[in-house]
Amino acid sequence: MMNPIRMVDLKGQYEKIKKEVDESVLQVIESTAFINGPKVKEFQAHLENYLGVKHVIPCANGTDALQVSLMALGLKAGDEVITSPFTFIATAEVVGLLGITCKFVDVEWDTFNLDVTQLEKAITPKTKAIIPVHLFGQSCNMEKIAEIAEKYELFVVEDVCQAIGAEFVFKNGEKKKLGTIGDTGCVSFFPSKNLGCYGDGGAIFTNDDEIARKLRGICNHGMFKQYHHELLGVNSRLDSIQAAVLDVKLAHLDEYNAARKKAAGFYNKMFENHLKLETPTISSFSTHVFHQYTLKMKNANREAIIEKMKEAEIPVMIYYPIPLHLQEAFCYLGYKKGDFPVAEKLCDCVISLPVHTELTEEQQRYICEKLLEELKN
Ligand SMILES: *Cc1c(COP(=O)(O)O)cnc(C)c1O
Repeated sequence: MMNPIRMVDLKGQYEKIKKEVDESVLQVIESTAFINGPKVKEFQAHLENYLGVKHVIPCANGTDALQVSLMALGLKAGDEVITSPFTFIATAEVVGLLGITCKFVDVEWDTFNLDVTQLEKAITPKTKAIIPVHLFGQSCNMEKIAEIAEKYELFVVEDVCQAIGAEFVFKNGEKKKLGTIGDTGCVSFFPSKNLGCYGDGGAIFTNDDEIARKLRGICNHGMFKQYHHELLGVNSRLDSIQAAVLDVKLAHLDEYNAARKKAAGFYNKMFENHLKLETPTISSFSTHVFHQYTLKMKNANREAIIEKMKEAEIPVMIYYPIPLHLQEAFCYLGYKKGDFPVAEKLCDCVISLPVHTELTEEQQRYICEKLLEELKN
């Protein structure tokens, strides 16, 4: 019998690393160093080494990583930040919470990422930063974004929550891990992410010593010397128990990402040249770690097909059904339908299929057969 299909199979993944994870977690419990224990330092050092970045600052989740980045870079109410309307709300939510104005720029049809040709027209004298979101596992055009950021003296805060392990390939052939190119990179270790813990977790990356100092202080109540608070910060820490899980899983990250890529390759083959499906496009300047495998549907009743897939116990998801500029929470920004036509059109036609480290070919075949059958109707 085929195992049930899930969007992510954390149980199957855990079973393969149970011994290592259990040992690592037990060590923390026995040490009782629950907060800022040695496990957090070990994981931090291992992640710095993996990414090739000078500083990793662990924090409580990806949303905090973004918020603390903007605070450390000195952004304040009245400033403007440019980002994508086709992402999870957290990216823009923290901007709004800090009283900063969110300016959206449409995305590219092919890659779902920021359309860099439209960036400059969104820049005003108040613009302070760009937040490129490396959506679904591949990079935005970081070379172009860096060029524009330099020209207008803007900070770049990378949202790498969905793309840890992916690399940007520069024109000269040099490669850098995503999240290490901008002023800061922000990652989430939410369980379903490519590197997920067993609760909430996050981290910020930077190569700049002064920014790193600020990030660490802000994550710890604005405290740089014990009980001396230079500024108002937040309480955002990574638990030692989560660090223990992450340290084990980091050693498997490349293998996990390769498994996702293989599963994506299988889907690509099955859906190649289909008249009603557009398979994902990979940019020439990026590797892809397939946090999601997202198809675009043409001339098909997406909602009816999703119903049928669910009846066949195949979970599928729409990431994302509503672009951020049309979310009620952002109505105060004054955007309207038609402002970002590509993002809007994507919301109406995307569908994400299960892609994870434990997916079997048998399961994938079943998913593909069902979808192809429904597309005939
Ligand atoms: C998951 C995610 C976040 C938020 O991370 P949390 O750890 O859930 O706070 C932010 N941005 C993107 C693109 C994400 O996918």
